[in-house]
Amino acid sequence: MILCDTHADTLYVRAMHPERPCDVTKEKAARGGVSVQTLALYVGGSPALPDIARAFAGMFAQAEALEASGWKRIGDYRDAREGECAFLLSVEGCDLLGEDPSLLSLWRKKGVRMAALCWNYENALGTPAVRDQDAPLTPFGREAVKEMLRLGIAPDVSHLNRRGFRDLTDMGIAPIASHSCCAALCPHPRNLTDDQLKALFSAGGYVGVNFYPLFLDARGRAGLDTVCRHVLHMLDLGGEGRVGFGSDFDGIEKKPRGLAGPQDFPALLRALEKRGVTGDLLRGIAGENLLRYYDRIDPKPERKKE
Ligand SMILES: [Zn+2]
Repeated sequence: MILCDTHADTLYVRAMHPERPCDVTKEKAARGGVSVQTLALYVGGSPALPDIARAFAGMFAQAEALEASGWKRIGDYRDAREGECAFLLSVEGCDLLGEDPSLLSLWRKKGVRMAALCWNYENALGTPAVRDQDAPLTPFGREAVKEMLRLGIAPDVSHLNRRGFRDLTDMGIAPIASHSCCAALCPHPRNLTDDQLKALFSAGGYVGVNFYPLFLDARGRAGLDTVCRHVLHMLDLGGEGRVGFGSDFDGIEKKPRGLAGPQDFPALLRALEKRGVTGDLLRGIAGENLLRYYDRIDPKPERKKE
């Protein structure tokens, strides 16, 4: 089975806090049957642009080091292979584009295939959900998203506010929410409302369910069952073929019971099976839905381009 995770902050931990043990290692991901582990370039806080640029350089260097250590790096989810563990890069927060929009094509050359417009601070593209739900995408944000799609980079709406999300779906864009949960089950501003989920699914988008207990449960008490509930709720809203996993490992200080790292993905798949999610439905959620999402937004894989 192809198994994909659309978000982990491992590069951040490795570059900024090398003393901390990582939730995600190649060994643990391989043990959990992960085919593609997405590793985000994430800075956090609200640092000045030169500091963000320095942090990105450090995280790209960490990606090089992981590759040199024998962890296969791929530049397209559709190159995922069953029984083989690879990683792929994403960006969380496009602040640097405000100063230099040409970075987007440089990131793409380095293998970045999804980019969250913002993290938890406003930037040149848009406004995050935790700041102001009503601020529109900026004209620059709209242009940046069109350029992302031209390059085969998925616009990631995890962290983006509700108005910015609607601006994208109104443009006919199928966004990805790489690590987001259901607001109907846990009313956190970072979570997606039922209306947002329905709009995203009908636009052909994709959601990776986040494993952060505070996004899964209002009291922060979560286990494998709680993650399953969010998956099932999304399926009820029309999410069949559109849902998967976006763990947020290495970015979350608490984890659900029974889900300490990528080595525990088999337990999560078993929990879903117990709730009747089996066969093609389960294979889709594990990974194939993500591959099909890229077929929708980037019908010609890079490897086939001239
Ligand atoms: Zn995040």
